[in-house]
Amino acid sequence: MNDLAKSIQEKYLFTLEKISGAARSVGRSPESVKLVIVTKAQPVAVARAAIEAGALYLGENYPEEGAAKIQTLREFSAVEWHMIGHVQSRKAQTVAVNFNCVHSMDSLKLAVRLDRFCGEANLSMPVLLEFNVGGEESKSGWSAWDEASWSMLVDEISSVLALPNLRVRGLMTMPPLGSAPEYSRPYFQRLNRLRDFLSAQFPLTSFDELSMGTSSDYEVAVQEGATLVRVGTAIVGARQYKTESV
Ligand SMILES: *Cc1c(COP(=O)(O)O)cnc(C)c1O
Repeated sequence: MNDLAKSIQEKYLFTLEKISGAARSVGRSPESVKLVIVTKAQPVAVARAAIEAGALYLGENYPEEGAAKIQTLREFSAVEWHMIGHVQSRKAQTVAVNFNCVHSMDSLKLAVRLDRFCGEANLSMPVLLEFNVGGEESKSGWSAWDEASWSMLVDEISSVLALPNLRVRGLMTMPPLGSAPEYSRPYFQRLNRLRDFLSAQFPLTSFDELSMGTSSDYEVAVQEGATLVRVGTAIVGARQYKTESV
C-alpha cells in the first residue's frame, strides 16, 4: 500500500470506530451502518487509494466526474458507486449506466427519466428519496420541513414508487450547515419521522435506509438512525479541485 492509501486507511478505520461507538451508544449494531467515502473533487488516485484502504462504497456528486472514475477503476468490481449529488435529468442516462445506487432522487421528472434509462439498460436501480427538511431554498429535495404538509407529498411519491425499474429503499437528506454537530440532530430526527410517515402511507415499501451525516455530524446521524453516512474530507482530506455540474 502506498503512503496515500495508508493515510486514508488510518482515517477510514478511525471513522469506522467512531461509527461503531455512536451505534453502540444508542443500542444499534455497528453493522447496520454503511460508510460511503465521498471522493468528489478528488483525483482518481484518491479513489483508488480509498479502495486499496478497504472502502466498499464510494460517493460522487457529479455524473460525468463520477463516471470517469468508475470507468477507470472498473477492475475493482466489488466496490459500489453511489450518486449523492443533484442529478439534472439530462444526465440520467450517465447515472443509470454507471452508478449502483442513487441517494439524491429529488424529483418525479428525474425519477421518470432514470427509470426509462434503467429499463433500456435492463437494470433495476436502488434509490433513496431526497428531502429538504431544513427549508433552505438552495437545497435540493422534496420540501419537507413543514410536517403539517407531508400529506401533500403522497401523490408524487406514489408515482415514483410505481416506476418499474427503480427500487425505493429509503430517504436521504443534507441538513443546513451548522456550527456544531448537535445542530443537525433535529433535522435527522425529522427525516426519521418522515420515514415513519411514508412507511404508514406505503406499507408495501420498505424505507429501511436513511442516508444522513457527513464529516461534521455523522456520529449524531448514526445516533438518529442513519444506515448510510457520507463522509468525504474527514477521510480523504480537502477537496482538490472545483467541480461543477457541466
Ligand atoms: C460533499 C458531500 C458530502 C461529504 O461532505 P464532507 O464534508 O466532505 O464529509 C456528503 N454528502 C453530500 C450530498 C455532499 O455533497
